[in-house]
This record gives sequence, C-alpha cells and structure tokens, in this order.
Amino acid sequence: MILETFPVGPLQCNCTILGDEETREAIVVDPGDEVTRIHRRLTALGLVLKQILITHAHIDHVGGALKLKSLTGAPIFLNESDLPLLQMMSAQAAWLGLETPATAPPDEGLVDGRRVGLENYPAQVLHTPGHTQGSICLHFAPLKMILAGDTLFAGSIGRTDLPGGNYEQIIESIHSRLLKLPDETKVIPGHGPATLIGAERRTNPFLK
Ligand SMILES: [Zn+2]
Repeated sequence: MILETFPVGPLQCNCTILGDEETREAIVVDPGDEVTRIHRRLTALGLVLKQILITHAHIDHVGGALKLKSLTGAPIFLNESDLPLLQMMSAQAAWLGLETPATAPPDEGLVDGRRVGLENYPAQVLHTPGHTQGSICLHFAPLKMILAGDTLFAGSIGRTDLPGGNYEQIIESIHSRLLKLPDETKVIPGHGPATLIGAERRTNPFLK
C-alpha cells in the first residue's frame, strides 16, 4: 500500500494519495491546490488515478479537482448536498482573496453508505453534515483509518459559521458516526496532524 498525506495550498488542506502497489491504481482525496505537484507524485509512483474524492466543497479541498481530472481523466466524487457551495466558488475565492478555480458538477455522488476507493482498499462513505451540508468522511475499515475532512480535527472540530454550517449537527454527526468507530481507528483530518478516535473521545474539548 502507498499512503501519502501532505498539506497543499495557502490553507494547508491535507491531500491524500492512496495507491495499490500491485494493481498500480490510486485515489486522491481533497486535491485542493498544487495539482501539478500531486500529478507529478502520482507519475513518480507509477500510479493510475481512478477516483478523485472530495470530502466537502470548500475551495481549499475541491479547488484543484477539475484540473486533476483534466490531467488524468479520473472522475470527481462529491456529496450532492454541497452543490450549492460548489456553485459559490467565486464567493469562496473572494472570502480568501484567491483566484477562482474552474469547477464542474461532480461525475458521481458520495451518498451515505456508498463503497468507493480501491478493490483492495475499499472505503465506506459516512455522511457527516455540520461543517457543510455535504460533508462526508471516508472510512477505510480494513485499514482502521478514517479521512475526516473538516468534520473532526486533533483536539478540535470543523467551523460551523460559514454558509451551510450547523454546530448542533456537526456534534451529532461526530457522536453518532465517528465516535462509534473503534478506539484504534486512525483519523486523518482535513487540516493538521493525525489522531486516533479513542484519543478524541477522551480528550477533545468539543466532545465532552
Ligand atoms: Zn472546510
């Protein structure tokens, strides 16, 4: 297995490459920016991109998706409840003083329960609204790993003061979907360092 997570762009969104060393197939989660670098890395690793998976439609997570699709032909997956945010890309760019990236409607939806990822490294989609209405987490159960987007961070949770955010909802999503997972589940958040579900259940001040 090839697993690389690295921050991209001015907001340092964690982008993840997951590849299968045998089939040479890969997925990329949240190519928010620095697409040339991501594409170069895929090429260097000898990987063929099969899916571009987006945890939610904030610019720092989805901004490079269409460019990566144009370079690789891989389809873009996004939960449809974030389509309104995708359509607000110029407003999102203006909030941050960034250039507006080109976007297009996703090729596939990320509905709750859908199986995505690679044959040998499958993931289940957990719809976890609150940070945005279409926020999802990707649970790689065989790997004991979750890619949490901006729903859960080490010691914190996603902000809920932007359009589509809802504080009660994100707390409910975390308790009902994420904290149900085994303690040893590794959490790779959308920003910052990795953590464990057990550690967050015990010490995250937002989840007491
Ligand atoms: Zn976000």
